[in-house]
Amino acid sequence: MNSDNHYIGRFAPSPSGPLHFGSLVAAVASFLDARSKNGQWLVRMEDLDPPRESPSAPAVILKQLKDFELVWDGQVLFQSTRLDAYAAALKSLQDRHLTFQCRCSRNKTPSVYPGTCRDAAHTENLATLPTSTRLRVDPCEVGFEDRILGRKTWHLQHDVGDFIIRRKDRLFAYQLAVVVDDAYQNITHVVRGSDLLDSTPRQIFLNQCLHLSQPNYAHLPVILGEDGFKLSKQAMARPISNENPSSLLKLALKALGQKVIDSIDYSEMLAVSALNWDIERVPKTLSQNIIELTDEDLQK
Ligand SMILES: [Zn+2]
Repeated sequence: MNSDNHYIGRFAPSPSGPLHFGSLVAAVASFLDARSKNGQWLVRMEDLDPPRESPSAPAVILKQLKDFELVWDGQVLFQSTRLDAYAAALKSLQDRHLTFQCRCSRNKTPSVYPGTCRDAAHTENLATLPTSTRLRVDPCEVGFEDRILGRKTWHLQHDVGDFIIRRKDRLFAYQLAVVVDDAYQNITHVVRGSDLLDSTPRQIFLNQCLHLSQPNYAHLPVILGEDGFKLSKQAMARPISNENPSSLLKLALKALGQKVIDSIDYSEMLAVSALNWDIERVPKTLSQNIIELTDEDLQK
């Protein structure tokens, strides 16, 4: 575990479309948390799933971040350039018999995998059958101290089950790529939406299997739209625009429970917000509806 005087945070969007207000909140939070600790803030493009991505999205997302003066350190890391590293991590797990091949169909499998293929001797010709690769989880507890939500624990076998690290379509799973890249980029602090909270025990367990160091985690309330569903690119949430960045920043700060500074100058407001950033003020809840945040002051 790294101390705060060595802080490296990151924002890691998947380029399935432009950033919407929910992703802006996550970007602002991780940016302010890093800057308030004089840390570095990296951007990683999680472009591992081409069928779900838009080729123009990475450039649009980077332009949106620049519009909001969320300026990152160093080069943007594209996961599509990291396939060799994921393959090496997968091989290391396979060599130690920590994985198994699974033939189960995804939509027939309950969310906690029941271990169907775990001990099956696949005598049939696996090479010709599409299989996913699952990591064997231990019957143990995995816990961590979330900087916002406090102590969180899961029983890996009951709550999570053996999980996929390489999909049937041969694409590396999000869980594997994130863990390998957080270690590669020496990430010390992960600040992200609570929609990823369930991924955290998987990532901690994978970290342990790969003997990587574990970052600190903070999970933010996810922003729900007026319909009560998470704002998402799939649900065509409106992209953020640079027409009035100050009002969107104010709204994001409000969502994060932070002091909202009444300044018309965007740059100044962002800088002061980094000085004032207090993670203790972030609501300790998994979600917030956008209706609760919007008020007339912020519409201007
Ligand atoms: Zn299976």
